[in-house]
Amino acid sequence: QVQGALLELTLSLETLQAVKGHMLEAMAKGLSRQTHAQATVRMLPTYICSTPDGTEKGDFLVVELRRRHVRTLWVTLPGDGNQSPQLKERLFDMPEDITQGKGEALFDFIARCLCQFLEGVCPSEPQQRLPLGFVFPFSCRQMRLDQGELITWSKGFHCSEVEGHDVVQLLQAAIDKQERCQVDVVALMNNTVGTMMSCSMEGMPCEVGLVIDVGTNSCFMAEGWHVETVEETSGRMCVNTEWGFFGDDGALSNVLTPYDQCVDQESAKPGEKRFEKLIGGLYLGEIVRHVLAKLAAEGALFGGDSIAILETKDTFKTQQVLEIIDDEAGLAMARSTLQALGLAPSEQDCCHVQQVCRAVVTRAAGLCAAGLAAILSHMCQSRELEQLKANVGVDGAVYRGHARFGEILQRITKLLAPECMATLVPSADGGGRGAAVVTAVALRLAAQRREVDRLLAPLRLGPADLQRVQALMRWEMELGLNQDTNAQSSVRMLPTYVRSTPDGTERGDFLALDLGGTNFRVLVVRVGQDGVHMASEIYAIPLAVMQGTGEALFDHIIDCIVDFQQKQGLTGQVLPLGFTFSFPCQQLGLDKAVLLSWTKGFSASGCVGKDVVQMLREAAQRKQHFGLDVVAVVNDTVGTMMSCGYDDPSCEIGLIVGTGTNACYMEEMQNVGTAEGEQGRMCINMEWGAFGDNGCLDDIFTDFDRLVDEKTINPGKQRFEKLISGMYLGEIVRYILLALVEKHILFRGKPSPKLQTRDIFQTKFLSTIEMGPRCAGSDGLALRQVRGVLHDLELDASFEDGVLVREVCQAVSLRAAQLCAAGLAAVVEKMRESRGLAQLAVTVGVDGTLYKMHPRFSQHLQRTLQDLAPNCTVTFLQSEDGSGKGAALVAAVHCRVAQAQGPP
Ligand code: ADP
Ligand code: MG
Repeated sequence: QVQGALLELTLSLETLQAVKGHMLEAMAKGLSRQTHAQATVRMLPTYICSTPDGTEKGDFLVVELRRRHVRTLWVTLPGDGNQSPQLKERLFDMPEDITQGKGEALFDFIARCLCQFLEGVCPSEPQQRLPLGFVFPFSCRQMRLDQGELITWSKGFHCSEVEGHDVVQLLQAAIDKQERCQVDVVALMNNTVGTMMSCSMEGMPCEVGLVIDVGTNSCFMAEGWHVETVEETSGRMCVNTEWGFFGDDGALSNVLTPYDQCVDQESAKPGEKRFEKLIGGLYLGEIVRHVLAKLAAEGALFGGDSIAILETKDTFKTQQVLEIIDDEAGLAMARSTLQALGLAPSEQDCCHVQQVCRAVVTRAAGLCAAGLAAILSHMCQSRELEQLKANVGVDGAVYRGHARFGEILQRITKLLAPECMATLVPSADGGGRGAAVVTAVALRLAAQRREVDRLLAPLRLGPADLQRVQALMRWEMELGLNQDTNAQSSVRMLPTYVRSTPDGTERGDFLALDLGGTNFRVLVVRVGQDGVHMASEIYAIPLAVMQGTGEALFDHIIDCIVDFQQKQGLTGQVLPLGFTFSFPCQQLGLDKAVLLSWTKGFSASGCVGKDVVQMLREAAQRKQHFGLDVVAVVNDTVGTMMSCGYDDPSCEIGLIVGTGTNACYMEEMQNVGTAEGEQGRMCINMEWGAFGDNGCLDDIFTDFDRLVDEKTINPGKQRFEKLISGMYLGEIVRYILLALVEKHILFRGKPSPKLQTRDIFQTKFLSTIEMGPRCAGSDGLALRQVRGVLHDLELDASFEDGVLVREVCQAVSLRAAQLCAAGLAAVVEKMRESRGLAQLAVTVGVDGTLYKMHPRFSQHLQRTLQDLAPNCTVTFLQSEDGSGKGAALVAAVHCRVAQAQGPP
């Protein structure tokens, strides 16, 4: 009979595995927005989004409401992470009637305890208001860290007018009634969260909290985007599982025994908290009592003696159960416990009672392990890890009552979640110290948030800022187009002598050169009936050549052309050549372009002020190369517009967002005061990268932009470009990160020598870092990539560091896209007005790796443009090799028009 009862209480590993599975389902249900309301495991958000990093410092108060006590603590955190905090505490007895009376009386009582305590530890008025963490071990629906409504009382409390009310407000109001009590309630949490937070160890945060006390509950750091009941999805958030209710929908039916049914029926709320009633200290003694009562009634124990005492509720205490299971003192304990109940146990009775106690405790620990395994597996899966290492903070009288509980918990958890390595960390001081830490973390994060917002505020542009930039761009465009005011404008508005976009009838073979991008290329472009075909070679331009003499640069170009012609079997043929030369030039004709200034890292001497076609021809002479027929010099923006224009006739704008940024568009000749003629249109190369070089954008520039600018080879020049393009965005981010490190907000203030290195933070990192959950598959994976990037920079980034770095990148790239949109808005609106249209439909041909590769740039650009130029419908077309194909098409259009007109 004893064996039979023991068997009923024994759970196989398969059963526990199934319990774990049900728990996982219940957790998923609790997290999902749709099913949250019906879920048994409620997965309540706690608004705790960060574990301590050891830098938390200062004095904190804690008030903990317990079943029969109010506990107050004064905690001084040293801020160096290693030393343990200093604690002063006091326990106040709470009269029973307080827990059954009015809510106001309860909170007044708590406030009075706090005041008394404060008078004891801090006789003089404190200098400033003290922050307080409130440990309130009941289920609350939290809306913020410092706001939470009590859902229902439990644990014997029945105060009126508290359910459905914000308990932080109630406590704060009660505190404010007390004189000399300058305290702010900063954080509300339950004891599970406090346990988790008190167990964070050096170098490895504790991300799971587990309490096995009179009741049982757990919490863990969930991926923010999984917590669907909260809007904010970045990073992580601690979720209070409230797993005591697990099984209330019948999920535990194959675990429950008749003894459990008895315990449940006799409890205050039958049918509720079925999981807790198998594990919590309020019930373990009761389960044992029911088993013994049944065995005694069947005559299997106590020789059939009177067992009336075993029919009385709560005669067997959980504390006694935990002492009886001990290998050494257990049997003696069993005997004295039974004797105290007036029973006369035999030697064998004592053995049997010990076995029953062990079975009940083992089952409780096993079920607890199934729950913990579910949490760990959930974390492992949602973080897309193959293995998870986690510290689990544990506390509570049942856990502490006997080492056996923890041993079983650890062993079974390992069996049920073999992919997870959980280390159980006993909480030194349960909720109390943890609550101080939560409060400290909350204050640290709030201070950091203010600092981050202050730092990033200048980068955040509002609609009014963008409209102003648009208006300024428009103004500068007008200045630049006018012969008399051209010199005052920072936007040069250079005529390109390109008069029309392709019409599709162009034919022939052409050579093209592309200089001014990341690579120098030579191409042969065949424009035929069936479209455009190209072959190309990339040639390196050594830094020494880029920054040497002009002659050497153009000699090098000729060498490359010769090599290319040899490789392509074109030696001896004279093909019309289009030259994409992506630097600001004053163009005097289609094949005459005077270099105004170098940009993008070029600085070859003796070139500024000279015609680049002439320099190319002279180099050909020097090199004895006589097969060169340069018909057109084009800017890469023009090439981009032309190559997209070949596919889409409404493409009349070219845009580049790559190493640099620039744009061109088709302007009415009558508006172009700087070129002869009034008829038709001409493509204008805006050279908008220099926008602002005359100071008109000075109030947009931030300190970070100024730092970036100072370190370039052209300080004060290309100011607009330096806010937008690939050559600079990474540097802007780097300077912001340095500022955040200096303020001890990032990387715990630890400086990284690598981060001090110029250009170490590449713009392509922004693309990787800003990949959202959708691109990366999940936010966890996305943030792992962030940390991967930072790791390569030898930065030891915490999870929160990753979130912050991403925010910085987002601010920088968003601003770039918005400014680019403001510039384009000025262009499309001007085109619409010049053409006298109410609505303009136009296509922009775009090139540049930043535009093409960044996950959000184009989206932000298009959305902002729509806002700024609502009367224009703008389509974006990515150019495929715009600078190569485009240059050939300019040459082709030129040849087509020249043939049509016949010889001059
Ligand atoms: P160019 O403008 O010189 O013709 P690209 O259009 O290829 O050349 O642009 C190169 C620039 O693009 C580089 O400055 C680099 O910072 C940036 N870049 C490269 N890869 C990426 C990426 N994945 N995301 C964003 N920017 C990138
Ligand atoms: Mg390019």
